[in-house]
Amino acid sequence: MNSSKDHHAIGSQDGIPNQWQPVSSMPQRVAVVGAGIAGLTAAYRLKQAGMDVTVFEAQPVVGGRMGDRKVGDIAFNSGARLVYPFGKSFNRLIADLSLDDILVPLKNLTAQCVAPSGSRHTIELMPSARSLATPGLRLTERLAMIRHAVQMRALKSRVDPDWAISALGVDATFDQMTLAAYTRDRVGPNVLKNIVEPVFRATRSFNPETLSALFYLTTVPHLIGEDTVYTLKGGMGRVCHALAAQLTVRTGVRVASIERHGASGTANDTQTPHSPWTQPDMTLTLDHGEVLHFDHIVCAVEGSLARQLVKRPLEPERAMLDSVHYNALGVVHYGFAGPLPPMMNFATRDTPSRIATYQQLPAAPSQGRPLTQIYCQLTPEAADEARERGLTDNLDALLRDELRARIPDFDAQVLSVVNQWIPHKLPVFSPGYGARLQAFWQWQEGPARVVDRPVVYCGDWTAQALLTGACASGERAARIVLERASKRMVQRA
Ligand SMILES: Cc1cc2nc3c(=O)[nH]c(=O)nc-3n(C[C@H](O)[C@H](O)[C@H](O)COP(=O)(O)OP(=O)(O)OC[C@H]3O[C@@H](n4cnc5c(N)ncnc54)[C@H](O)[C@@H]3O)c2cc1C
Repeated sequence: MNSSKDHHAIGSQDGIPNQWQPVSSMPQRVAVVGAGIAGLTAAYRLKQAGMDVTVFEAQPVVGGRMGDRKVGDIAFNSGARLVYPFGKSFNRLIADLSLDDILVPLKNLTAQCVAPSGSRHTIELMPSARSLATPGLRLTERLAMIRHAVQMRALKSRVDPDWAISALGVDATFDQMTLAAYTRDRVGPNVLKNIVEPVFRATRSFNPETLSALFYLTTVPHLIGEDTVYTLKGGMGRVCHALAAQLTVRTGVRVASIERHGASGTANDTQTPHSPWTQPDMTLTLDHGEVLHFDHIVCAVEGSLARQLVKRPLEPERAMLDSVHYNALGVVHYGFAGPLPPMMNFATRDTPSRIATYQQLPAAPSQGRPLTQIYCQLTPEAADEARERGLTDNLDALLRDELRARIPDFDAQVLSVVNQWIPHKLPVFSPGYGARLQAFWQWQEGPARVVDRPVVYCGDWTAQALLTGACASGERAARIVLERASKRMVQRA
Protein backbone atom coordinates (compact mmCIF):
# COMPACT_ATOMS: atom_id res chain seq x y z
CA MET A 1 0.00 0.00 0.00
CA ASN A 2 1.48 3.37 -0.85
CA SER A 3 2.08 5.96 1.81
CA SER A 4 -0.20 8.60 0.31
CA LYS A 5 -3.09 6.18 0.83
CA ASP A 6 -1.84 5.44 4.35
CA HIS A 7 -2.42 9.05 5.26
CA HIS A 8 -5.49 9.67 3.19
CA ALA A 9 -7.62 12.41 4.70
CA ILE A 10 -11.24 11.61 5.37
CA GLY A 11 -14.06 13.81 6.54
CA SER A 12 -14.87 14.24 10.20
CA GLN A 13 -18.52 15.17 9.84
CA ASP A 14 -19.71 11.84 11.18
CA GLY A 15 -17.48 11.79 14.21
CA ILE A 16 -14.56 9.87 12.81
CA PRO A 17 -10.98 11.11 12.80
CA ASN A 18 -9.81 13.42 10.04
CA GLN A 19 -6.97 11.16 9.08
CA TRP A 20 -6.20 7.49 9.19
CA GLN A 21 -2.60 7.86 10.20
CA PRO A 22 -0.09 5.66 11.99
CA VAL A 23 -0.59 5.77 15.76
CA SER A 24 2.48 3.86 16.76
CA SER A 25 5.93 2.92 15.65
CA MET A 26 5.30 -0.39 17.43
CA PRO A 27 2.25 -1.75 15.59
CA GLN A 28 -0.29 -3.46 17.77
CA ARG A 29 -1.72 -6.76 16.57
CA VAL A 30 -5.35 -6.74 15.54
CA ALA A 31 -7.46 -9.72 14.48
CA VAL A 32 -10.57 -9.02 12.45
CA VAL A 33 -13.01 -11.92 12.44
CA GLY A 34 -15.21 -11.94 9.32
CA ALA A 35 -14.33 -10.63 5.86
CA GLY A 36 -17.65 -9.04 4.93
CA ILE A 37 -17.71 -5.35 4.06
CA ALA A 38 -17.78 -4.38 7.77
CA GLY A 39 -14.71 -6.42 8.74
CA LEU A 40 -12.73 -5.51 5.62
CA THR A 41 -13.47 -1.80 6.06
CA ALA A 42 -12.32 -1.95 9.69
CA ALA A 43 -9.18 -3.88 8.69
CA TYR A 44 -8.35 -1.48 5.86
CA ARG A 45 -8.68 1.61 8.03
CA LEU A 46 -6.62 0.00 10.81
CA LYS A 47 -3.90 -1.01 8.41
CA GLN A 48 -3.82 2.54 7.08
CA ALA A 49 -3.27 3.64 10.66
CA GLY A 50 -0.24 1.37 10.97
CA MET A 51 -1.72 -1.55 12.87
CA ASP A 52 -0.64 -5.12 12.23
CA VAL A 53 -3.94 -6.58 11.01
CA THR A 54 -4.95 -10.14 10.09
CA VAL A 55 -8.45 -10.95 8.84
CA PHE A 56 -9.97 -14.41 9.39
CA GLU A 57 -12.80 -15.60 7.16
CA ALA A 58 -14.64 -18.91 7.47
CA GLN A 59 -15.65 -19.07 3.82
CA PRO A 60 -13.20 -19.79 1.02
CA VAL A 61 -13.90 -16.31 -0.43
CA VAL A 62 -14.17 -12.84 1.07
CA GLY A 63 -17.24 -10.59 0.85
CA GLY A 64 -19.81 -12.40 2.97
CA ARG A 65 -23.21 -11.07 1.93
CA MET A 66 -21.62 -8.76 -0.62
CA GLY A 67 -20.23 -11.18 -3.13
CA ASP A 68 -20.86 -13.04 -6.37
CA ARG A 69 -21.47 -16.72 -6.92
CA LYS A 70 -21.64 -18.90 -10.00
CA VAL A 71 -23.06 -22.39 -10.18
CA GLY A 72 -22.91 -23.87 -13.68
CA ASP A 73 -24.35 -21.24 -16.01
CA ILE A 74 -26.11 -19.33 -13.25
CA ALA A 75 -24.45 -16.24 -11.81
CA PHE A 76 -26.04 -14.62 -8.78
CA ASN A 77 -25.29 -12.46 -5.74
CA SER A 78 -24.47 -13.89 -2.34
CA GLY A 79 -26.58 -11.03 -0.94
CA ALA A 80 -26.65 -7.33 -1.81
CA ARG A 81 -27.69 -6.42 -5.34
CA LEU A 82 -27.88 -2.61 -5.14
CA VAL A 83 -25.82 0.21 -3.68
CA TYR A 84 -27.83 3.15 -2.37
CA PRO A 85 -26.26 6.54 -3.06
CA PHE A 86 -26.27 7.85 0.48
CA GLY A 87 -23.51 5.88 2.23
CA LYS A 88 -20.79 8.33 3.27
CA SER A 89 -18.35 5.70 4.54
CA PHE A 90 -18.91 3.49 1.52
CA ASN A 91 -18.50 6.38 -0.93
CA ARG A 92 -15.28 7.37 0.85
CA LEU A 93 -14.01 3.83 0.54
CA ILE A 94 -14.82 3.69 -3.17
CA ALA A 95 -12.96 6.97 -3.67
CA ASP A 96 -9.95 5.81 -1.62
CA LEU A 97 -9.76 2.61 -3.64
CA SER A 98 -10.08 4.61 -6.90
CA LEU A 99 -13.09 2.52 -7.83
CA ASP A 100 -15.55 5.32 -8.72
CA ASP A 101 -15.78 4.05 -12.28
CA ILE A 102 -17.30 0.73 -11.20
CA LEU A 103 -20.59 2.33 -10.08
CA VAL A 104 -23.23 1.60 -12.71
CA PRO A 105 -26.32 3.80 -12.31
CA LEU A 106 -29.80 2.31 -12.49
CA LYS A 107 -32.43 5.02 -12.87
CA ASN A 108 -36.10 4.92 -11.89
CA LEU A 109 -36.26 1.25 -10.90
CA THR A 110 -39.80 -0.08 -10.86
CA ALA A 111 -41.58 -3.37 -10.33
CA GLN A 112 -45.06 -4.55 -11.23
CA CYS A 113 -47.04 -5.31 -8.13
CA VAL A 114 -49.50 -8.15 -8.55
CA ALA A 115 -52.62 -8.07 -6.39
CA PRO A 116 -54.74 -11.14 -5.52
CA SER A 117 -57.26 -10.16 -8.21
CA GLY A 118 -54.45 -10.46 -10.76
CA SER A 119 -54.50 -6.68 -11.31
CA ARG A 120 -51.10 -4.99 -11.53
CA HIS A 121 -49.76 -1.61 -10.60
CA THR A 122 -46.33 -0.06 -10.92
CA ILE A 123 -44.25 0.38 -7.77
CA GLU A 124 -41.40 2.87 -7.70
CA LEU A 125 -38.45 1.53 -5.71
CA MET A 126 -37.36 5.10 -4.95
CA PRO A 127 -40.31 7.11 -3.58
CA SER A 128 -41.36 9.78 -6.06
CA ALA A 129 -44.35 11.87 -7.17
CA ARG A 130 -45.29 8.93 -9.42
CA SER A 131 -46.05 6.90 -6.27
CA LEU A 132 -49.12 9.12 -5.88
CA ALA A 133 -50.64 7.41 -8.91
CA THR A 134 -50.69 4.01 -7.15
CA PRO A 135 -54.22 2.60 -7.52
CA GLY A 136 -56.33 1.72 -4.49
CA LEU A 137 -55.47 4.80 -2.41
CA ARG A 138 -58.11 7.11 -0.97
CA LEU A 139 -57.85 10.83 -1.75
CA THR A 140 -57.05 11.50 1.92
CA GLU A 141 -54.18 9.04 1.68
CA ARG A 142 -52.76 10.73 -1.42
CA LEU A 143 -52.86 14.06 0.42
CA ALA A 144 -51.26 12.45 3.48
CA MET A 145 -48.47 11.12 1.24
CA ILE A 146 -47.65 14.65 0.08
CA ARG A 147 -47.59 15.94 3.67
CA HIS A 148 -45.52 12.98 4.70
CA ALA A 149 -42.98 13.53 1.90
CA VAL A 150 -42.49 17.12 3.08
CA GLN A 151 -41.98 15.92 6.68
CA MET A 152 -39.51 13.27 5.54
CA ARG A 153 -37.49 15.81 3.54
CA ALA A 154 -37.28 17.97 6.64
CA LEU A 155 -35.74 15.03 8.53
CA LYS A 156 -32.94 14.56 6.01
CA SER A 157 -30.31 16.55 7.89
CA ARG A 158 -31.24 14.91 11.20
CA VAL A 159 -31.03 11.22 10.35
CA ASP A 160 -28.15 9.14 9.06
CA PRO A 161 -29.16 6.42 6.58
CA ASP A 162 -26.19 4.30 7.67
CA TRP A 163 -27.20 4.56 11.31
CA ALA A 164 -30.72 3.38 12.15
CA ILE A 165 -30.50 4.64 15.74
CA SER A 166 -30.02 8.20 14.51
CA ALA A 167 -33.85 8.34 14.33
CA LEU A 168 -33.90 8.09 18.14
CA GLY A 169 -32.53 11.63 18.23
CA VAL A 170 -35.67 12.81 16.44
CA ASP A 171 -38.16 10.80 18.46
CA ALA A 172 -37.27 7.81 20.63
CA THR A 173 -40.81 6.41 20.33
CA PHE A 174 -40.11 5.52 16.66
CA ASP A 175 -38.11 2.61 18.05
CA GLN A 176 -41.15 1.32 19.90
CA MET A 177 -43.63 1.33 17.02
CA THR A 178 -43.80 -1.11 14.15
CA LEU A 179 -43.37 0.12 10.61
CA ALA A 180 -46.90 -1.13 9.89
CA ALA A 181 -48.40 0.93 12.74
CA TYR A 182 -46.35 3.97 11.74
CA THR A 183 -47.45 3.82 8.08
CA ARG A 184 -51.12 3.12 8.87
CA ASP A 185 -51.17 5.99 11.31
CA ARG A 186 -49.23 8.60 9.27
CA VAL A 187 -50.27 7.88 5.69
CA GLY A 188 -52.99 5.25 5.69
CA PRO A 189 -53.64 1.50 5.47
CA ASN A 190 -53.75 1.36 1.67
CA VAL A 191 -50.31 2.96 1.41
CA LEU A 192 -49.05 0.21 3.68
CA LYS A 193 -50.80 -2.50 1.69
CA ASN A 194 -50.09 -1.32 -1.86
CA ILE A 195 -46.67 0.31 -1.55
CA VAL A 196 -44.71 -0.11 1.68
CA GLU A 197 -45.48 -3.74 2.45
CA PRO A 198 -44.80 -5.17 -1.04
CA VAL A 199 -41.47 -3.31 -1.26
CA PHE A 200 -40.30 -4.35 2.20
CA ARG A 201 -41.38 -7.96 1.71
CA ALA A 202 -40.00 -8.30 -1.82
CA THR A 203 -36.68 -6.52 -1.43
CA ARG A 204 -35.85 -7.17 2.21
CA SER A 205 -38.04 -10.10 3.34
CA PHE A 206 -39.06 -7.77 6.13
CA ASN A 207 -42.48 -7.98 7.71
CA PRO A 208 -43.61 -4.41 8.56
CA GLU A 209 -45.71 -5.84 11.41
CA THR A 210 -42.57 -6.99 13.26
CA LEU A 211 -40.05 -4.35 12.15
CA SER A 212 -39.60 -1.03 13.94
CA ALA A 213 -39.95 2.22 12.00
CA LEU A 214 -36.20 3.02 12.30
CA PHE A 215 -35.00 1.66 8.94
CA TYR A 216 -37.76 3.52 7.10
CA LEU A 217 -37.29 6.78 8.97
CA THR A 218 -33.55 6.93 8.40
CA THR A 219 -33.49 5.88 4.74
CA VAL A 220 -36.61 7.41 3.18
CA PRO A 221 -35.60 11.05 3.87
CA HIS A 222 -32.44 10.36 1.84
CA LEU A 223 -34.30 8.63 -0.99
CA ILE A 224 -36.99 11.22 -1.72
CA GLY A 225 -35.94 13.18 -4.78
CA GLU A 226 -33.31 10.59 -5.75
CA ASP A 227 -33.92 8.45 -8.79
CA THR A 228 -30.69 6.46 -9.02
CA VAL A 229 -29.26 3.44 -7.28
CA TYR A 230 -26.14 1.61 -8.39
CA THR A 231 -24.84 -1.78 -9.15
CA LEU A 232 -21.14 -2.55 -9.50
CA LYS A 233 -19.39 -3.28 -12.77
CA GLY A 234 -17.63 -6.64 -12.44
CA GLY A 235 -19.91 -7.78 -9.64
CA MET A 236 -20.88 -6.81 -6.09
CA GLY A 237 -17.85 -8.64 -4.70
CA ARG A 238 -15.40 -6.29 -6.39
CA VAL A 239 -15.03 -3.83 -3.53
CA CYS A 240 -14.36 -6.60 -1.01
CA HIS A 241 -11.78 -8.19 -3.31
CA ALA A 242 -10.06 -4.81 -3.76
CA LEU A 243 -9.90 -4.37 0.02
CA ALA A 244 -8.66 -7.91 0.62
CA ALA A 245 -5.90 -7.43 -1.95
CA GLN A 246 -4.36 -4.84 0.37
CA LEU A 247 -4.70 -6.89 3.55
CA THR A 248 -3.52 -10.13 5.12
CA VAL A 249 -6.59 -12.33 4.92
CA ARG A 250 -6.81 -15.99 5.89
CA THR A 251 -9.81 -17.46 4.10
CA GLY A 252 -11.35 -20.85 4.80
CA VAL A 253 -10.43 -20.42 8.47
CA ARG A 254 -13.29 -20.50 10.93
CA VAL A 255 -12.70 -18.86 14.28
CA ALA A 256 -13.99 -21.18 17.00
CA SER A 257 -13.70 -18.81 19.95
CA ILE A 258 -12.59 -15.40 21.15
CA GLU A 259 -11.35 -15.26 24.70
CA ARG A 260 -9.93 -12.58 26.95
CA HIS A 261 -7.98 -14.03 29.79
CA GLY A 262 -7.25 -10.74 31.52
CA ALA A 263 -10.93 -9.85 31.82
CA SER A 264 -13.27 -11.21 34.35
CA GLY A 265 -16.35 -12.07 32.38
CA THR A 266 -18.83 -10.36 34.63
CA ALA A 267 -20.10 -6.84 34.78
CA ASN A 268 -19.18 -6.51 38.45
CA ASP A 269 -15.56 -7.22 37.75
CA THR A 270 -15.26 -3.89 35.96
CA GLN A 271 -14.89 -2.60 39.54
CA THR A 272 -11.68 -4.51 40.23
CA PRO A 273 -8.74 -2.18 40.88
CA HIS A 274 -6.25 -3.10 38.19
CA SER A 275 -4.43 -0.61 36.02
CA PRO A 276 -6.69 1.10 33.52
CA TRP A 277 -4.77 0.04 30.45
CA THR A 278 -3.41 -3.33 31.57
CA GLN A 279 -2.56 -5.48 28.60
CA PRO A 280 -5.13 -8.27 28.46
CA ASP A 281 -4.26 -11.59 26.94
CA MET A 282 -6.58 -11.93 23.96
CA THR A 283 -6.74 -15.24 22.18
CA LEU A 284 -8.40 -16.44 19.07
CA THR A 285 -8.85 -20.18 18.71
CA LEU A 286 -9.26 -21.41 15.17
CA ASP A 287 -11.39 -24.39 14.22
CA HIS A 288 -8.35 -26.60 13.70
CA GLY A 289 -7.05 -25.82 17.20
CA GLU A 290 -4.45 -23.12 16.45
CA VAL A 291 -4.37 -20.48 19.22
CA LEU A 292 -3.26 -16.95 18.35
CA HIS A 293 -2.64 -13.91 20.56
CA PHE A 294 -3.68 -10.34 19.76
CA ASP A 295 -3.85 -6.89 21.35
CA HIS A 296 -7.30 -6.13 19.89
CA ILE A 297 -10.03 -8.15 18.25
CA VAL A 298 -12.71 -6.79 15.93
CA CYS A 299 -15.65 -9.16 15.72
CA ALA A 300 -17.35 -8.53 12.36
CA VAL A 301 -19.46 -11.67 12.00
CA GLU A 302 -23.25 -11.78 11.84
CA GLY A 303 -24.49 -10.74 15.29
CA SER A 304 -26.23 -13.99 16.09
CA LEU A 305 -22.98 -15.86 15.38
CA ALA A 306 -20.92 -13.50 17.54
CA ARG A 307 -22.85 -14.72 20.56
CA GLN A 308 -21.47 -18.24 20.09
CA LEU A 309 -17.90 -17.05 19.51
CA VAL A 310 -17.23 -14.85 22.48
CA LYS A 311 -16.47 -16.79 25.62
CA ARG A 312 -17.70 -15.40 28.93
CA PRO A 313 -19.34 -12.28 27.45
CA LEU A 314 -19.69 -9.29 29.72
CA GLU A 315 -23.21 -8.32 30.70
CA PRO A 316 -23.64 -5.49 28.11
CA GLU A 317 -22.37 -7.83 25.38
CA ARG A 318 -24.68 -10.61 26.47
CA ALA A 319 -27.70 -8.28 26.57
CA MET A 320 -27.00 -7.05 23.05
CA LEU A 321 -25.91 -10.26 21.38
CA ASP A 322 -28.86 -12.20 22.80
CA SER A 323 -31.27 -9.77 21.16
CA VAL A 324 -29.87 -9.95 17.63
CA HIS A 325 -32.17 -11.72 15.24
CA TYR A 326 -31.82 -12.19 11.48
CA ASN A 327 -34.49 -13.18 9.00
CA ALA A 328 -33.84 -16.04 6.60
CA LEU A 329 -34.19 -15.93 2.85
CA GLY A 330 -34.72 -18.51 0.17
CA VAL A 331 -34.13 -17.84 -3.51
CA VAL A 332 -34.37 -20.25 -6.40
CA HIS A 333 -32.55 -19.38 -9.64
CA TYR A 334 -33.58 -21.16 -12.84
CA GLY A 335 -31.69 -21.33 -16.13
CA PHE A 336 -34.42 -21.23 -18.75
CA ALA A 337 -33.79 -22.33 -22.34
CA GLY A 338 -36.08 -19.92 -24.18
CA PRO A 339 -36.23 -16.13 -24.34
CA LEU A 340 -38.60 -14.43 -21.88
CA PRO A 341 -39.18 -10.67 -21.66
CA PRO A 342 -37.36 -8.88 -18.79
CA MET A 343 -39.72 -8.24 -15.88
CA MET A 344 -39.83 -7.87 -12.10
CA ASN A 345 -43.00 -8.62 -10.14
CA PHE A 346 -43.69 -8.13 -6.45
CA ALA A 347 -46.60 -9.81 -4.65
CA THR A 348 -48.80 -8.15 -2.06
CA ARG A 349 -49.19 -9.91 1.28
CA ASP A 350 -52.58 -11.42 0.40
CA THR A 351 -51.57 -12.63 -3.08
CA PRO A 352 -51.78 -16.44 -2.92
CA SER A 353 -48.15 -17.02 -3.87
CA ARG A 354 -44.99 -18.29 -2.22
CA ILE A 355 -42.95 -15.93 -4.42
CA ALA A 356 -42.41 -12.38 -3.14
CA THR A 357 -40.15 -11.31 -6.03
CA TYR A 358 -40.32 -12.88 -9.45
CA GLN A 359 -37.78 -11.67 -11.98
CA GLN A 360 -36.91 -12.65 -15.56
CA LEU A 361 -33.48 -11.46 -16.69
CA PRO A 362 -31.46 -12.05 -19.81
CA ALA A 363 -28.88 -14.71 -18.92
CA ALA A 364 -25.17 -14.50 -19.69
CA PRO A 365 -25.21 -17.81 -21.57
CA SER A 366 -22.33 -20.07 -22.32
CA GLN A 367 -22.75 -21.84 -25.67
CA GLY A 368 -25.97 -19.95 -26.29
CA ARG A 369 -28.04 -21.37 -23.40
CA PRO A 370 -29.81 -20.65 -21.13
CA LEU A 371 -31.31 -17.50 -22.60
CA THR A 372 -33.16 -16.39 -19.50
CA GLN A 373 -32.42 -16.51 -15.80
CA ILE A 374 -35.44 -16.59 -13.50
CA TYR A 375 -35.08 -15.30 -9.94
CA CYS A 376 -37.73 -16.40 -7.42
CA GLN A 377 -37.44 -15.00 -3.90
CA LEU A 378 -39.66 -16.64 -1.33
CA THR A 379 -42.14 -14.72 0.80
CA PRO A 380 -41.26 -14.56 4.52
CA GLU A 381 -44.06 -17.10 5.16
CA ALA A 382 -42.72 -19.50 2.50
CA ALA A 383 -39.23 -19.23 4.06
CA ASP A 384 -40.78 -20.26 7.40
CA GLU A 385 -42.58 -23.11 5.67
CA ALA A 386 -39.33 -24.28 4.04
CA ARG A 387 -37.70 -24.45 7.45
CA GLU A 388 -40.64 -26.22 9.07
CA ARG A 389 -40.87 -28.81 6.28
CA GLY A 390 -37.10 -29.35 6.04
CA LEU A 391 -37.02 -28.05 2.46
CA THR A 392 -34.29 -25.43 2.73
CA ASP A 393 -32.11 -27.53 0.39
CA ASN A 394 -34.94 -28.06 -2.09
CA LEU A 395 -36.90 -24.82 -2.31
CA ASP A 396 -37.82 -25.65 -5.91
CA ALA A 397 -40.25 -28.25 -4.53
CA LEU A 398 -42.24 -25.41 -2.94
CA LEU A 399 -42.37 -23.32 -6.12
CA ARG A 400 -42.58 -25.73 -9.05
CA ASP A 401 -46.38 -25.98 -9.28
CA GLU A 402 -46.76 -22.23 -9.18
CA LEU A 403 -44.18 -21.81 -11.94
CA ARG A 404 -45.85 -24.48 -14.08
CA ALA A 405 -49.07 -22.50 -13.78
CA ARG A 406 -47.25 -19.32 -14.90
CA ILE A 407 -45.31 -20.91 -17.77
CA PRO A 408 -47.02 -23.99 -19.25
CA ASP A 409 -43.85 -25.65 -20.67
CA PHE A 410 -41.76 -24.73 -17.61
CA ASP A 411 -40.42 -28.25 -16.94
CA ALA A 412 -39.34 -28.76 -20.53
CA GLN A 413 -37.49 -25.42 -20.67
CA VAL A 414 -35.65 -25.50 -17.34
CA LEU A 415 -32.00 -26.39 -17.83
CA SER A 416 -30.66 -25.81 -14.33
CA VAL A 417 -31.84 -24.99 -10.82
CA VAL A 418 -29.80 -23.35 -8.06
CA ASN A 419 -31.10 -23.42 -4.52
CA GLN A 420 -29.93 -20.45 -2.40
CA TRP A 421 -30.73 -20.52 1.29
CA ILE A 422 -29.43 -17.59 3.36
CA PRO A 423 -29.99 -18.33 7.06
CA HIS A 424 -28.87 -14.83 8.10
CA LYS A 425 -30.23 -12.41 5.56
CA LEU A 426 -30.77 -9.15 7.38
CA PRO A 427 -30.80 -8.11 11.02
CA VAL A 428 -34.34 -7.36 12.11
CA PHE A 429 -34.52 -4.14 14.07
CA SER A 430 -37.66 -5.11 15.93
CA PRO A 431 -39.35 -2.65 18.32
CA GLY A 432 -37.01 -1.90 21.24
CA TYR A 433 -33.85 -2.99 19.39
CA GLY A 434 -32.77 0.62 18.74
CA ALA A 435 -32.60 1.51 22.44
CA ARG A 436 -30.53 -1.61 23.17
CA LEU A 437 -28.20 -0.84 20.30
CA GLN A 438 -27.75 2.76 21.40
CA ALA A 439 -26.80 1.59 24.90
CA PHE A 440 -24.42 -0.93 23.38
CA TRP A 441 -22.58 1.71 21.32
CA GLN A 442 -22.35 3.93 24.37
CA TRP A 443 -20.75 1.02 26.17
CA GLN A 444 -18.41 0.18 23.25
CA GLU A 445 -17.33 3.78 22.90
CA GLY A 446 -17.36 4.66 26.58
CA PRO A 447 -14.30 5.61 28.60
CA ALA A 448 -13.56 2.13 29.84
CA ARG A 449 -10.47 0.18 30.62
CA VAL A 450 -9.13 -1.75 27.68
CA VAL A 451 -8.88 -4.85 29.83
CA ASP A 452 -12.64 -4.98 30.12
CA ARG A 453 -13.52 -4.36 26.52
CA PRO A 454 -10.91 -5.58 24.15
CA VAL A 455 -13.40 -6.91 21.58
CA VAL A 456 -15.02 -4.34 19.31
CA TYR A 457 -18.11 -5.37 17.35
CA CYS A 458 -19.29 -4.18 13.96
CA GLY A 459 -21.57 -5.39 11.18
CA ASP A 460 -24.94 -4.47 9.76
CA TRP A 461 -26.65 -5.56 12.99
CA THR A 462 -24.88 -2.71 14.80
CA ALA A 463 -25.75 0.02 12.30
CA GLN A 464 -28.23 -0.43 9.46
CA ALA A 465 -29.40 -3.44 7.47
CA LEU A 466 -27.55 -2.30 4.35
CA LEU A 467 -24.04 -2.74 3.01
CA THR A 468 -23.46 0.98 3.50
CA GLY A 469 -24.45 0.61 7.17
CA ALA A 470 -22.12 -2.37 7.60
CA CYS A 471 -19.31 -0.33 6.04
CA ALA A 472 -19.98 2.63 8.35
CA SER A 473 -19.89 0.32 11.37
CA GLY A 474 -16.49 -1.02 10.26
CA GLU A 475 -15.10 2.51 10.12
CA ARG A 476 -16.47 3.24 13.55
CA ALA A 477 -15.01 0.05 15.00
CA ALA A 478 -11.61 1.01 13.58
CA ARG A 479 -11.84 4.36 15.32
CA ILE A 480 -12.54 2.68 18.68
CA VAL A 481 -9.56 0.36 18.28
CA LEU A 482 -7.33 3.32 17.43
CA GLU A 483 -8.46 5.21 20.51
CA ARG A 484 -7.78 2.21 22.70
CA ALA A 485 -4.43 1.64 21.00
CA SER A 486 -3.33 5.21 21.61
CA LYS A 487 -4.28 4.89 25.30
CA ARG A 488 -2.18 1.75 25.53
CA MET A 489 0.69 3.68 24.00
CA VAL A 490 0.38 6.32 26.68
CA GLN A 491 0.34 3.69 29.39
CA ARG A 492 3.38 1.88 27.95
CA ALA A 493 5.29 5.16 27.79
C1 LIG B 1 -30.21 -11.43 -0.22
C2 LIG B 1 -29.69 -10.14 0.31
C3 LIG B 1 -29.95 -8.97 -0.40
C4 LIG B 1 -29.43 -7.76 0.07
N1 LIG B 1 -29.62 -6.64 -0.68
C5 LIG B 1 -28.98 -5.50 -0.33
C6 LIG B 1 -28.96 -4.40 -1.22
O1 LIG B 1 -29.48 -4.47 -2.34
N2 LIG B 1 -28.32 -3.27 -0.80
C7 LIG B 1 -27.70 -3.18 0.41
O2 LIG B 1 -27.15 -2.12 0.72
N3 LIG B 1 -27.67 -4.24 1.27
C8 LIG B 1 -28.28 -5.39 0.90
N4 LIG B 1 -28.20 -6.49 1.71
C9 LIG B 1 -27.55 -6.34 3.01
C10 LIG B 1 -26.01 -6.40 2.90
O3 LIG B 1 -25.63 -7.43 2.02
C11 LIG B 1 -25.46 -6.66 4.29
O4 LIG B 1 -26.02 -5.75 5.20
C12 LIG B 1 -23.93 -6.52 4.35
O5 LIG B 1 -23.30 -7.12 3.25
C13 LIG B 1 -23.48 -7.14 5.67
O6 LIG B 1 -22.08 -7.03 5.79
P1 LIG B 1 -21.36 -7.53 7.12
O7 LIG B 1 -19.91 -7.33 6.90
O8 LIG B 1 -22.01 -6.89 8.30
O9 LIG B 1 -21.72 -9.08 7.25
P2 LIG B 1 -21.33 -10.32 6.31
O10 LIG B 1 -21.22 -9.92 4.89
O11 LIG B 1 -22.31 -11.38 6.64
O12 LIG B 1 -19.88 -10.72 6.82
C14 LIG B 1 -19.67 -11.53 7.96
C15 LIG B 1 -18.57 -12.52 7.59
O13 LIG B 1 -18.19 -13.23 8.77
C16 LIG B 1 -17.87 -14.55 8.37
N5 LIG B 1 -17.92 -15.40 9.55
C17 LIG B 1 -18.99 -15.77 10.28
N6 LIG B 1 -18.61 -16.55 11.32
C18 LIG B 1 -17.27 -16.65 11.24
C19 LIG B 1 -16.30 -17.34 12.03
N7 LIG B 1 -16.64 -18.06 13.10
N8 LIG B 1 -14.99 -17.26 11.66
C20 LIG B 1 -14.60 -16.52 10.57
N9 LIG B 1 -15.50 -15.87 9.79
C21 LIG B 1 -16.81 -15.93 10.12
C22 LIG B 1 -18.94 -14.88 7.35
O14 LIG B 1 -18.57 -15.98 6.54
C23 LIG B 1 -19.03 -13.56 6.57
O15 LIG B 1 -18.15 -13.56 5.46
C24 LIG B 1 -28.69 -7.71 1.28
C25 LIG B 1 -28.45 -8.89 1.99
C26 LIG B 1 -28.92 -10.10 1.50
C27 LIG B 1 -28.57 -11.36 2.24
